[in-house]
This record gives sequence, C-alpha cells and structure tokens, in this order.
Amino acid sequence: MIKVLSVASECVPLVKTGGLADVVGALPRALSEQGIDMRVMLPAYPDLVKKIGKVTEIAAEKDLYGGSARVMKGAVDGVTVLLLDAPHLFDRKGGIYGNPSDYPDNPERFAAFSFAAAQIGMHGGRDGWVPDVLHAHDWQAALAPAFVRWAENTRLKTVLTVHNIAFQGIAPSSRMGAMRLPGWAYNTNGYEYWGNINVLKAGLLAADKLSTVSPSYASELMRGEFGMGLDGVMRARAADMLGILNGVDTDVWNPADDAAIIAYSAKSVAAKAKNRAALIAEFELDDVPGPLAIVVSRLTGQKGIDLIADVAPEFVTDGGGLVILGTGEPYFEERILGLTQSLPGRVAVRIGYDEGMSHRLFAGGDAVLVPSRFEPCGLTQMYGLRYGTIPVVAATGGLNDTVIDANPAAVLADSATGFTFHPTDALALRQALRRMCALYADQKAWRAMQQRAMKSDVSWSASSKAYASLYAGLIG
Ligand code: ADP
Repeated sequence: MIKVLSVASECVPLVKTGGLADVVGALPRALSEQGIDMRVMLPAYPDLVKKIGKVTEIAAEKDLYGGSARVMKGAVDGVTVLLLDAPHLFDRKGGIYGNPSDYPDNPERFAAFSFAAAQIGMHGGRDGWVPDVLHAHDWQAALAPAFVRWAENTRLKTVLTVHNIAFQGIAPSSRMGAMRLPGWAYNTNGYEYWGNINVLKAGLLAADKLSTVSPSYASELMRGEFGMGLDGVMRARAADMLGILNGVDTDVWNPADDAAIIAYSAKSVAAKAKNRAALIAEFELDDVPGPLAIVVSRLTGQKGIDLIADVAPEFVTDGGGLVILGTGEPYFEERILGLTQSLPGRVAVRIGYDEGMSHRLFAGGDAVLVPSRFEPCGLTQMYGLRYGTIPVVAATGGLNDTVIDANPAAVLADSATGFTFHPTDALALRQALRRMCALYADQKAWRAMQQRAMKSDVSWSASSKAYASLYAGLIG
C-alpha cells in the first residue's frame, strides 16, 4: 500500500477558508478506494486538538523556529490527521492567516510547518509510519518539498499541487535566516525572486512532480496572463506538470437526497419546477417568463461580478430573472444591490455566506452563471451540472474542462451540457445568455440538456485514479 503524507494549511471538516480545504478533506477518502493510505498534516490552530478529541504524541522538538513543538496524531471521520502543535506559531485568536491583514510572520510560521512536515515525511514519527510520498498543497506547504530536496539521502518523493497561483508566499530576503532557508539556494534556480524570497517558486522547482486542479489551468499557468510571474518556472517544469480536476462531494450535493430541497433526479426533473417556484416565492420575485439564473460566489473581480451587473438589464428584458448569493468586496456588493433597485421583481440579492440557501438556489435555478476571469477549477458549475442547473461559464481553467458548450456540433451530437464563452467580457457573456434564452424557449431541448448535464461525472472517481497513478509512477 502506498503511503502519502498530504500537507496543507486547511482541511474540511476541521478548518476552511476556501476550496483548498474541500479538496484536502476529500482526497484521503477518495484515495483509500484506490489503495492509498493518506494522512493529512495540518497546523494545530486553536481548538483543533480539542475538536479531534483523542490524540497521541508521535514527535517532539524543543526548538522549532523559536519554541517547543509536538506532532499529535488523531482521527476525523476515519481519516488520520497529524497536527503540528506549536503554540508560539499557531495558537492565535485572529484567524488562521490573520484577519483582516496577514500576520507579519506568516512566512516563518509556514516555513516552520513545512520544515516539520518534511521531517515527518523523511523520518516518520514514533508510531513507525513513514510515507513514500509527501504531497504539499499551495504556498503554505510549498517549502516541504524544498526541505526534502535540500536534505541528502532521502528516498521520499514529493508532489506540489497549485490550487491558486495568486498566493505565493513572498518575503524580503532579509528573512532568510528566520525562515531557516539555506543561503546557497538563494538564486534563480532556488527560491530567489526579483530580490525577494518566493516560497511557492522554491516548491515548484524542488518537487519531483507538480499538479494543478484542471488540465486547462495547467496550460494557462505557463502563459504570462495567468502565471502571475511564475509562468517561466511553470514552462521549465512543463514535463512534470499534470492537471487533475477536482471532484465534488456527491453525498452533500445530491439532488435525489438533499434535505434542503424537493428531491428530484435526472429521470424525473419535474420536481425542479416546484423548487423554482419555491425560490421565486422565497426571494419575492415576480413571475419570470425566461430562465431564472443564479450566482453563488465570492464577490470579487476574479469572479466577473461586474460583468453580471453589466448584462443584467438586457437579460431581464429577454425574460430572465437573477438570484445572487455572495459576500466580498464592497464595490461589487454595491453594484449588484443596485440591480435590485433598477430591476425590481426580477433581481434578488443576498449578501452573506449560507450553505443551506445555496442548495435551494441550485435546486430552483434554471442556470448558474460563472463568468470568472480565471478559475483554477471551480465548484459551482459542477453543482449546477449535478442539479440540472445549466452552467453558463467563461471558457477558462476548470470551467472549460467541465462544461460542454451547446455549439451546433455538440447539439447535433447530443453532448452539450451548458454554455461557454470567450473572452471574459460583457459582450461575450451577453451572447451566451442570448443563446441560453433561445434554448430555454424550446423546453424539450432544454430538458434534454438538463438530463445530460445531470449525468456528467463530477465525482472524484476519475481524479482519484489519476492521483493514485501519479504516486505509483513516482515510487516505481
Ligand atoms: P473559490 O474557492 O475561488 O471561492 P470555488 O467555486 O472553487 O471558488 O469554491 C467556492 C465554494 O464556496 C463553493 O462550494 C461555493 O458553493 C461556496 N460558496 C461561495 N460563496 C458562497 C456563499 N455566499 N454561500 C454559500 N456558499 C458559498
């Protein structure tokens, strides 16, 4: 059995700020079906040890970056978790990264975490479990493969997955000593980046294999528009880079068994109309003759929220309605709240984070809009597919890899599952919405597309096999 130590700063159900946590939490269970024994290593944020309950100490260190530290082993929902208990670094009240602004010593905190993970990876703990592969996620864990590379005589193999290249862990070079980075590796082929330290770069150059969360994002990362300064590094490592799509939790997102909605399935989508009526009532909309579109999203520039505001008036004129659930930057909140004034009865907005409500939106909406400017993988378009809520998405990253556009060829071949558009601008989004309204007018064709969408495989099944063969290839 291949043993893998997954190293990350977040993991569902223990600690989450974004999609990274969903993936790190889902992988061990998906991979155990492939015969992979995966443990997850996390920092012991406040209350995490308590949340887990019974833990045992498997390693201790008197001085880990200026304080004593222990590694505690426990389990959550059948998954073995290793917690780095280092109070001087992780016992803080202001969120896991600091809120509203980052903790100034985040580079040292996560360097220490990565250092400890590399030690456990190479030598194991007192329980005798030594992994074959260390799998690090994002910049917070990216120094772990680097510390492994810098150590000599280790058989441990490493993988680094990029979930979002926007975050790289950049620090002034004066922090080298405090981060315990070897001076000799401060160069272009190491962790140096325009006179600073770049933690993600160090990991990208050090790991045996790299991956990201969709095939399209894997190739986009090698281009200047998406690589955020690391496109050259990505190109240099192209031969070792894989794009593996995320899956969704098909137990949580299951329209045939979802307590928040009137249940339905691909065979009987009729109940979707009842969910639609309930949604219109809940949000006090008028009758919506055309498609009812939904948005569940962080409200930021990345997500193209401004484009939705731009096209809403024409979409409403064409018969459409719009329900938006999200939180984010004040500018975007104000813009979409403005639509409820200018288009009353047809546009409703809820500012907030509400999982139960998001299920009702997917159940009652006809379509889900995801006009992202970049999207490593994206989850909401996959929820849309599963709930027969037709995705209308920008043709970028994982959106491009999960939705089959209703172009004439795909329509003829009965393979379309949604609408994609390019480039990510208001004009292209408006065209996609026009095409959607036209198809909606033909309810028979619309039903057929809904049923096809609901049969799309958005589970972890194919991707867990891809990870398993990545590990197997590494250890020969
Ligand atoms: P990102 O990680 O960039 O925010 P993803 O699509 O990968 O985008 O994941 C976002 C996740 O957060 C999805 O599960 C989505 O349903 C959820 N989500 C985002 N905003 C809200 C909200 N306001 N209420 C409920 N769920 C939300």
